[in-house]
Parts: sequence; structure tokens; C-alpha cells
Amino acid sequence: MVDDYLPFARPSLDSETIAAVVETLRSGWLASGPRVQALEQALSGYLGGRIVRTFTSATAALEVALQVCGIGPGDEVIVPAMSFVATANVVLRVGARPVFVDVDLATRNLDLGQAESAVTSRTRAILPVHFAGLPLDLDRLYALAQRHGLRVIEDAAHAIGASWHGRRIGSVGDLVCFSFHPNKNMTTIEGGALVLDDPDEAARAERLRFHGIDRDAQGEMEVVEAGGKFNLSDVAAAVGLGQLRQLEHFNRLRRERARRYLEKLHSDPPFLLPDRGDDGHSWHLFALLLPLERLRITRRQFIQAMHERGIGVGIHYPAIHLFRRYRALGYAEGDFPNAERIGRETVTLPLFPAMTLSDVDRVCEAAVQIVQENRL
Ligand SMILES: *Cc1c(COP(=O)(O)O)cnc(C)c1O
Repeated sequence: MVDDYLPFARPSLDSETIAAVVETLRSGWLASGPRVQALEQALSGYLGGRIVRTFTSATAALEVALQVCGIGPGDEVIVPAMSFVATANVVLRVGARPVFVDVDLATRNLDLGQAESAVTSRTRAILPVHFAGLPLDLDRLYALAQRHGLRVIEDAAHAIGASWHGRRIGSVGDLVCFSFHPNKNMTTIEGGALVLDDPDEAARAERLRFHGIDRDAQGEMEVVEAGGKFNLSDVAAAVGLGQLRQLEHFNRLRRERARRYLEKLHSDPPFLLPDRGDDGHSWHLFALLLPLERLRITRRQFIQAMHERGIGVGIHYPAIHLFRRYRALGYAEGDFPNAERIGRETVTLPLFPAMTLSDVDRVCEAAVQIVQENRL
């Protein structure tokens, strides 16, 4: 069972990428150097020529994006109540206040109508997530931002390679952040990227990721603010270059496997399946809602039963506003019913490029069988 255990995510690294890592290790240049520059250029090329700066994580990129926008104490930032907690943590870390908004049950994306109602005179930015790689409606998002003079920071951690009506996520918009964590659609082991347009903002992002250091034409060092230390290594960038080369292929495989799930998963009582989107969906996650009110098992027991059949299942995510740190801001149960329901009922089934279509079938059979055997 352990041998053919199917995790919910697994990165694919080809031998060319591994060889490039070994070559980097032998090159004598391990920290940020030529390969980081090459990765930033390659990502820029992939994203229509926009400026790209890499970071040690998407979390770092998001935090720096907020700082680049000048967001801090006294400011509010609109965030979805359903996301990975990093989406809200970064707002607190710069001293601003996250203002949660509910998400749509089918798309899991920010409800833009409710987002507009949440705008106040203190709102400075909106920080939506392209959940699971399903792009948010960019036209409505940017129209809303324009009406209220807000910056937009897209948390595109799930969405490298996704596109909205033919426009690649990151190739348009304001500030866009990607994650290259091993579970994401491409990896640098740990890493992330910030995409933007303004060279002055890019220079500020560079300072914030490396000690606040500026260098003049003679190479003399000056420091005008205390930056952090978020620069990617060349070893990580070598992984990223190999991954970016295969990204379109990876995402095609993800779409094919997600479509198979959508075709095969008809349970009674029914799962609430994710919105199928179109070919612009990057399918970072395949997450469905369990019909728990009609089962005599808990989600924990469902996950355990899948595990016993050799199948890994994840939870993406608990609703953020119910964590203790966010309850301390005054949030409570009942505030965001969709995010809370997703947080209670969601499970993530295995989805990664190296799994086969018969792996998908095996997962579907197991999930449907567990539901059939445990209906009320
Ligand atoms: C993974 C993830 C992040 C954080 O990415 P890291 O690169 O691990 O910092 C942020 N937001 C969302 C929605 C994520 O899934």
C-alpha cells in the first residue's frame, strides 16, 4: 500500500532539471546570481514582458507588494475569508487590517458584490485569490478597484499558467503574486514571484527583499529603509527554469485529470463539485464538498477511510476568520456562511501531473464507495 500511496500533490522534476541543479551546485555561485536573473527574465517573457521579481515565497512577495503600495497602520485591505491563511497574515504583518468578504460556493472566489459593500474610506487595496487556479472575473475586479481608487494585489499562488478570457494571469493587472511551493503548479522548492509594471516600485521591491540596500553607479551602498531578506537562491532558480519549461505541459495534464474527475464523480448523496471553468483553469487543486449532513461519518473519518485505501486527501482550507488571531478582530461563526461551509466540508483529492487517469478512476471509486457505505 505504501508503494503505490497516492499523495494529494507531488512535484515532477525531470532529469534535465536535476542536472541543472547539480551544475549550479558545482558552479560556485549558489545565492542570487545569473540563474535568478534568467528565471525572472523567463517569467517576464511568459507574462507578456511585465517586470518580475522573485522571492523566497509568495508570502514574502505578498508582504512586499503591500509595502510597495504604502499600505500600513490605519489602512484596510479586502481579503477572502476562504484562502490559505497567508493571504490575511501578510495584511496584519504590515500593520493594516484585513477586512474579510465571503466567497462564492461553486467558484470559491471572492464575491465581488460583497467586496464592493465592504469598501470604506480606509480601504486601500483588494487582495483576491484565484482559488484552485480558477481566475476571478478580472474585468469586474478592476472596474471595482477603479471606482474606489484601490490597488489590486492578486494572490495568484494557485494560478501560474491560468488565463482569463485568453489573458494569462499575471500578464495584465496591478500587482500579481505567484507561489513556487512544491505543491503548486511549478516549484522552486520554496519561492515566489511578484509581477508589476512600475520600475520605481520594482526598485523598492528589490530593496525590501534585500536589506534595504541601494547601490549607486560606483557600487557604493546606501540604505534608506530597513529591508528584509527574501532573495531566491540560484539553486532554486535552476529548479524554476526547468519547471517553467514544462509548465504548459503540466497544466494540460492537470486539466485532463480534473475533467476526468468531473466526469466520474457522481455520488449519491452528491458531492458538491468545483466549478469546471474553461481551458484557462490551472487546476492547482481538485477540491469538492462532502455531503456530510447526509453521511454518518465525519470528514476526518472520510479522510481516514481514503488513507486506508492508499489515497492522500488534503483540506484547503479552514475559513481564515475563525482562527483565534482573526476572532480577536471581532469575527465569529455566521459571518461568512460559504467560507465556513467550505471550511467544514471541503476535501482535496489527488491532482498532479504524474498521476495517471486510472489513478483518478481509483480515487473516484474509493470516494464514491465510502459515501455509499456511509449514507444516513
Ligand atoms: C501557497 C499559498 C500562499 C503562500 O505561498 P508560499 O510560497 O508558501 O509562501 C499564499 N496564498 C495562497 C492562496 C496559497 O495557496
